[in-house]
Amino acid sequence: MMENKKTVLITGSNKGIGFETARQLGRKGFRVLISGRDEGRLTDALQKLLPENPDAGALLMDVSDERSIAEAAQNFAASGQRLDVLINNAAILRKDDRRILQADEEVYLETVDTNCHGPLRVVKAFLPYLNSTARIINISSGGGSMSDPVGGWSPAYCASKTLLNALTRHLAYELAERGIVVNAVCPGWVRTDMGGSGASRTVEKGAETPVWLAAEASQRLTGKFFRDEREIPW
Ligand code: NAP
Repeated sequence: MMENKKTVLITGSNKGIGFETARQLGRKGFRVLISGRDEGRLTDALQKLLPENPDAGALLMDVSDERSIAEAAQNFAASGQRLDVLINNAAILRKDDRRILQADEEVYLETVDTNCHGPLRVVKAFLPYLNSTARIINISSGGGSMSDPVGGWSPAYCASKTLLNALTRHLAYELAERGIVVNAVCPGWVRTDMGGSGASRTVEKGAETPVWLAAEASQRLTGKFFRDEREIPW
């Protein structure tokens, strides 16, 4: 029945892992709200989703723009809905992100703003509408690991995911009293626009662990980092 459905909001889900996560959660009975920063791309994505998921919706939101986040939260509030799952999936990896010492600080600042400040602002803006026992899932990356060797690729992106991991732990700590759990996921190297055609995983595989955390994982799991439904070191 409609009213018993859980609702999930996924940022940056007009394509890639976010869109596939929306499809899979729709099949599992979630009411799905996809989100994106471009109205045209978002509408196209919703049209693709509706045939198999007729009650899916879309919310325009640029996670790098505080005003856009505030407007999206207002629009969401006006709909009278509440959230059971929030997935911070939107992120960028710039092609000119080559060396942390590069002169152009803009690459670093835009990456950190989108990939870390964005998720934190989205959590703050949507917190009033999260149900108790809600789940927050931050899509991170093995590139953010502090225990793997430094890979020599996309350093601003990797550092942004390290900060997202740290934010995950602090949010888990602070939201425990509300019964809200917060975890981070590495989806693996996935064939999307970001991962490229040479990546080892399908987008279906990339969505697997976010879907598991949203729909099946124990509510006792919080403040952890996962890949392939298993906890991995930070
Ligand atoms: P993708 O295909 O490039 O999709 C990224 C999504 O984020 C797009 O929908 C994009 O929207 C959106 N986005 C970017 N900036 C945004 C902003 N400011 N506001 C709202 N939406 C924004 O990438 P993906 O591979 O699916 O990545 C999804 C997540 O998995 C990311 O967090 C990424 O870091 C993580 N991840 C991916 C891989 C991989 O191998 N693919 C590996 C590890 C982690 P537009 O269409 O408007 O650009």
